[in-house]
Amino acid sequence: MAEDRKKIAVIATGGTIAGAGPAGDSAGYRAGELPVEQVVKSVPGLADVADLEMYTVCQVDSNDVTFGVYREVKKLVEALEADPSVDGVVITHGTDTLEETAFLLNLVLDVKKPVVITGAMRPATATSADGPGNLMQAVSLAADDQAAGMGVLVVLSNMVFAGRDVKKTDSMSTDAFRQNEFGLLGYVRDRRVSLIHRPYRFHTSASRFNVTDLRDMPEVEIFYVHEESDPGLLRYMLERYDGVVIAGTGGGNYPRAVQDVIESWDGECMIVRASRLPEGEAVPDEVFDPMQRTIAAYDLMPHKARLLLMLGLQSGRSREEIQEDFRVY
Ligand code: ASP
Repeated sequence: MAEDRKKIAVIATGGTIAGAGPAGDSAGYRAGELPVEQVVKSVPGLADVADLEMYTVCQVDSNDVTFGVYREVKKLVEALEADPSVDGVVITHGTDTLEETAFLLNLVLDVKKPVVITGAMRPATATSADGPGNLMQAVSLAADDQAAGMGVLVVLSNMVFAGRDVKKTDSMSTDAFRQNEFGLLGYVRDRRVSLIHRPYRFHTSASRFNVTDLRDMPEVEIFYVHEESDPGLLRYMLERYDGVVIAGTGGGNYPRAVQDVIESWDGECMIVRASRLPEGEAVPDEVFDPMQRTIAAYDLMPHKARLLLMLGLQSGRSREEIQEDFRVY
C-alpha cells in the first residue's frame, strides 16, 4: 500500500561494493570506482522495496576513510534524521575497516531512525558479486521499523550485526563478518527481516559522544605485543601520542620489559590495555598492571578501543571516566 512505502537514503563511501575490475574476477579490482546510482541500479527489485535517494560522501577504499569522512557522514545522517520524509539510512562502505566506522558512528550519531551499513567482498564486476544481495538486505532492514533505535546496524550475507560488536574475520569468504560469542542480532532474507536480540550498551541518541564535532581529534596509536616486543618503541609512542592502546596477548598481557616502560611512565599519554585476541576480555589486572597505570578495554578490540579513547580524550574525560566509558559503551 502506498502509505506503507518507505523512503531510504543510500549514502556511498566507496569500497568493493562499488569496485570494478577484470570481468568475472574477484581479485585485481579497484574499490570505489562505480557511482552509487549504478550500484543501486544493478539490484533487481530494489526499487520495489522503497523509494531511494542517493548521496555520495566519497568513493574510496575503506583503508582511506578518515575523520573527515566521519564528519561528512555524521552531518548528512543527522540532516536525514531531521527530514520527516526519510525513514532510514543505508551506508555502503568497504569491508576492511567497516567495523571501525560502524563502532564510531554508533557512538557519535544522534539518531533514532535505522542506520544500516553494508559492503561486499566481491566487486560489482565479479561473477556472483555479493554486493547486490547485501544492498537489498540493507535497504530492507533500514525500511523495517524494528531496526529503529538499535544503534548502527551492519548487514552482510543475511546476518545482522551490532556496530559495536561486528568483526571482519575472513579476508576472502563472502561470509566475512561475525560477532562471535555475542551471536547475531538477527537475519535478513530477501526482504524479510527477523531481529532476535537488542544491543545492550549505550549508543547513538543515548551516547554522551553524539555532541562531538569530530575535529582536532587526539592522536592515538596501537602497540602490538608479541614475544620480544621492543619496549623502546612503546616508550617512543608514549612520548609522541596522546593515547596508546596496547594490543596485548591473552587478557591484555605483555613482556616484563613492556611492563617496566608502563610502570615508569608518568607523562600525559593515556594507556589502554586491550587484547589482540578476537574473543574474551582484557580486565583490570593485578599481575600485569599492579600499579593500575592502564585502562582496561574489556572486550573491545584494539582498533575499536582506539576510537573510544579518542572520543574520551577529545571530550576531556579523566582517566577514571574513560575507564567507566569502557564499561558502558
Ligand atoms: N579494500 C576494500 C575496502 O575496504 C575491501 C572491501 O570493500 O571488501 O574498501
